[in-house]
Amino acid sequence: SLCLLLSLSLSICTSPCRQTLMPAWVLDKYGNNNVLRFAKSTLFPIVHYPNEVIIKVHASSLNPIDISMRNGYGAATLNMRRDPLSINPAGSEFPLILGRDVSGVIMESGLDVSFFKPGDKVWAAIPPWKQGTLGEFVVASANEVSHKPKGLSHIQAAALPYVALTAWSALVNTAGLKKDNCKGKRILILGGSGGVGTFTIQLTKAWGAHVTTTCSQDAFSFVKDLGADHAVDYKTPHVEQQLKTLDLFDLILDNVGGDTEKWALSLLRPWSGATYVTLITPLMLNMDRLGVPDGMLRSGVTVGTKVLKHLRNGVHYRWGFFAPSGPSLDEIVALVDEGKIRPVVEQVFSFSEVPEAFQKLEGGHARGKIVIDGI
Ligand code: NDP
Repeated sequence: SLCLLLSLSLSICTSPCRQTLMPAWVLDKYGNNNVLRFAKSTLFPIVHYPNEVIIKVHASSLNPIDISMRNGYGAATLNMRRDPLSINPAGSEFPLILGRDVSGVIMESGLDVSFFKPGDKVWAAIPPWKQGTLGEFVVASANEVSHKPKGLSHIQAAALPYVALTAWSALVNTAGLKKDNCKGKRILILGGSGGVGTFTIQLTKAWGAHVTTTCSQDAFSFVKDLGADHAVDYKTPHVEQQLKTLDLFDLILDNVGGDTEKWALSLLRPWSGATYVTLITPLMLNMDRLGVPDGMLRSGVTVGTKVLKHLRNGVHYRWGFFAPSGPSLDEIVALVDEGKIRPVVEQVFSFSEVPEAFQKLEGGHARGKIVIDGI
């Protein structure tokens, strides 16, 4: 069956795939960092659909979801997406490759792909139900891919796609923010010093907003260098009281969760379309625990109840999610090319140091992104 799959892939590639095995970091089961295994010879990724491309990974980066997925978070839900008819036996997702970001070069493209050709330098964020980017090659749908900014190295480019598309989806698709309606808006970013926060500060400043962010005091100069107008130390007692002394906000992006929801919505300007978007939602956990239909139902009831409760006070409550999108990355390329957005790389690890990179991310206190150099 392997030969059949490989020959199928050959038939839809524009040029013959020569390799059948590649090195990658894989999981054979979920757990702590010890489950990460370097495999010299994993199966070369296969183009299943004519709209797919194979990318040679020149750099990738880590996100909190890689730690969560390594621990088994989302396994039931993602397996449902990988295998909707439950044809495969339990554990068929292994060997699983983590890593969502890629900056690299197109190696093969499916017959329906006209926008990308072998040799093009691209970037993308691969959705979590697909095999990830901690390998030599990765398969992506062409609509998830974009030509990477010319002024960025692969290392720099790999720091942006997943966090940028999460912020873009939350701010633009969910909260309705855009270049033309952002000027002068007061924006509060809860958690500005990590991957999503550092991108959001730059995007909203580039669009003319006034940006306040919470972070540790030692990150004040870091977030201000990125453009934040005001920083508040979340470790001081009663951070919410400090924020309440400021003018009300038009938009809050919550990268922190926990009890922030209890007080953050009172910081919004009521009856003006002001919106709170949180990235910390129970959707995946509910689906893992209760199964996909019941988990979706429970989540729908939870979010619906909260939306109505806050609407009575004149503010909008929303959940935000990462959404893969090549076209959105194209818009971000333009902002990078104009010098309005720069990647924030905290540390670069070599491909052999992937477990150390996970450890670093797990230790917290992110100041931007942890990037993995390609093989
Ligand atoms: P990072 O790990 O890069 O950054 C987290 C940052 O938050 C760190 O700089 C940390 O700094 C800071 N921080 C921690 N606690 C607080 C607090 N109470 N108040 C203010 N800042 C705080 O994470 P990302 O930016 O990549 O992601 C942010 C969150 O969004 C994560 O929880 C992630 O799981 C979630 N997420 C959700 C997505 C979705 O689809 N819903 C997609 C992407 C991300 P320090 O420790 O020094 O305080």
